[in-house]
Amino acid sequence: MCGIVGYVGKAPGVRALLEALGRLEYRGYDSAGVAVLNGNGVAVRKRAGKLKELVAAIKQQPIEGCVAIGHTRWATHGEPSEVNAHPHVDCRGQLAVVHNGIIENYAELKTRLIRQGHRFQSTTDTEVIAHLVEEHAKTAPLREAFLRAVRELRGSYALGLIATQEPGRLYAARLGSPLVVGLGKDEAFLASDVPAILPRTRRVVYLNDHEVVELDASGARLATLDGRSVNRKPSRIDWDVSSAQKAGYAHFMLKEIHEQPQAVEQTLLNRLDAKTLDIAFDRRTVAFLAQLSRAERLVIIACGTAYHAGLVGEYMLEEFAGLAVDVDLASEFRYRGPMLDRNTTVLAITQSGETADTLAGVRLAREQGAKVLAICNVMGSSIARAADAVLYTHAGPEI
Ligand code: GLU
Repeated sequence: MCGIVGYVGKAPGVRALLEALGRLEYRGYDSAGVAVLNGNGVAVRKRAGKLKELVAAIKQQPIEGCVAIGHTRWATHGEPSEVNAHPHVDCRGQLAVVHNGIIENYAELKTRLIRQGHRFQSTTDTEVIAHLVEEHAKTAPLREAFLRAVRELRGSYALGLIATQEPGRLYAARLGSPLVVGLGKDEAFLASDVPAILPRTRRVVYLNDHEVVELDASGARLATLDGRSVNRKPSRIDWDVSSAQKAGYAHFMLKEIHEQPQAVEQTLLNRLDAKTLDIAFDRRTVAFLAQLSRAERLVIIACGTAYHAGLVGEYMLEEFAGLAVDVDLASEFRYRGPMLDRNTTVLAITQSGETADTLAGVRLAREQGAKVLAICNVMGSSIARAADAVLYTHAGPEI
């Protein structure tokens, strides 16, 4: 999960864009970036870390333009870093893309694009989109190139694209990740969520899956992926900003409880083959899981809710994998002198990847020669780095 925003207007839009990004920071905050069309091409600023790092960078080296896109990231593919932060550009730096979601077939697209001569800078799934549009734009006008590129993507996306070729316009598309268009006077917005644009306009159009939209200062034109135009009346939002951020729920915890189906879907998305029902992991995890089948014992360590997830996991692993499982509260585990050796695998469960007792348990297990697998929601977190392998959940940041 992450936040994307876009702005097209007759006046400079970077300030509006940064304000909107600030209201989306709850969706992701490991890095952030913006790209603008400024008459000389695409100018990009990005920074690792929180949005305030980006704001400081732009203060130092200002950029401005009437067409802009922005992103606050929660990494799924490629570590959180400046080079992996969005927006991503094509080989010539003539177009820029922001993306929320996962491109499931990015590896095959990347291989093809590299063969066609494209040069990649990041290790994200997202960058393929920029090069794919660039490739199609060799033989088609930008709108058609965008549609052709989007039709090739599998997985989930909310996308925004700007290009020097069409300096007054922004293209966007949606499948499985939220996206809303805001209509103002001589300006239009794009955002992952209504609260981002609410202080600017209350007239919004929600995009459906498999739809694209073309924005300019005069408004928005919706179409299906095969290019047929769609007529949808704007809705009027009556919520105040604070209840909109909670999507109408009384508090964030309740909202996150209700988001569980989407979190499970996002987590399975890149890994479950819908036809064969096979589960696919990256090579390192597969190698790790292969040795797990030789393990004699599995010890699950976790704290709080994650501990309760571990108790459910114990039943499932014993029933389906025939593996002897113990579950320990991480805070007890580290003090009770647990019996561990090379034939033991420790499974650490932690949303944040920073739970202090679980981290101490992971270090202790490794010192004693056990192998450690983590289930964790935050890329680059301490436990993700300390473990031998990680299964990431993709639930977005926890508020
Ligand atoms: N998959 C993209 C990345 O890792 C987007 C992540 C997101 O939606 O937060 O950069």
